[in-house]
Amino acid sequence: AADGNRYFVDATLLAGRLPRRAKFGHKGTYGHALLLAGSRGKIGAALLAAQACLRSGVGLLTVRTPAVGYDILQTAAPEAMALPDSSPDYLSELPDLKSYSAIGIGPGLDKADSARQVLEKLLRAATVPLVVDADALNMLGANPELLALLPPDSILTPHPKEFERLAGPARDDYHRLDLLQEFCRAHQCYTVLKGAYTCLGTPDGALYFNSTGNPGMATGGSGDVLTGVLTALRAQHLSALDAALLGIYAHGRAGDLAAQHTGEAGLVAGDLTRFLGPALQELT
Ligand code: AMP
Ligand code: MG
Repeated sequence: AADGNRYFVDATLLAGRLPRRAKFGHKGTYGHALLLAGSRGKIGAALLAAQACLRSGVGLLTVRTPAVGYDILQTAAPEAMALPDSSPDYLSELPDLKSYSAIGIGPGLDKADSARQVLEKLLRAATVPLVVDADALNMLGANPELLALLPPDSILTPHPKEFERLAGPARDDYHRLDLLQEFCRAHQCYTVLKGAYTCLGTPDGALYFNSTGNPGMATGGSGDVLTGVLTALRAQHLSALDAALLGIYAHGRAGDLAAQHTGEAGLVAGDLTRFLGPALQELT
């Protein structure tokens, strides 16, 4: 139901937005995602994003982590291709981008100067859809000249603290939504303000409130899973709006399905990845 330019994201709003897989589809049909993620001690964030990306229908996935992540990724996510950086602990080099249909950056990245340079090179070089999360957002917040490089139709996924670094402090929740609308208009991006009733802002000023999810998802790694989902959907050539709406809804729905098994307190982010398939299946 719409109220002006405000919408509630439920199964009705999403009907028909997720294409069925084609009988003669092959892995080339479903895109090739690249994730740039991880640092020493936070390779798990890259792994969670990778597993979520693989569980969201992508044809191929390549993951760029610092060298410390190589064995971890190849062992825990054998379906993904690993493309390790030469630097041991932090990303330092942007790989050749020509093979990819969407790129996600941020989970577990850390704020090392070398990683900031990778982000800057990516923003200058990227010609495919971007999903920007976590420390990549914090670097955008700290460097307005980087924010100005953001390609149109990028999806940003801040939690409220990250959003504050991007757009400044909000007096209250209503003011935060005003800031969200302004920010999306000013930067012509889609911004997923995460939390209970995650709110998607769009470049034309619309706000979409998500209906799925539960407080069990307030646990480390939940957001990294969302980055993987959104990158997979963008890699499959969905529009930024459809990918963002389907992604936030399926991610929350996976959390609701997982909590039926684990309870809310027992939920960990890895549980979400196991239920992404069923959550997406419900939407086809
Ligand atoms: P992050 O803080 O980056 O790990 O992201 C947390 C993820 O969990 C986001 O997708 C949030 O929308 C979700 N989440 C956190 N707390 C809640 C909550 N109380 N209800 C629903 N979803 C939540
Ligand atoms: Mg996060």
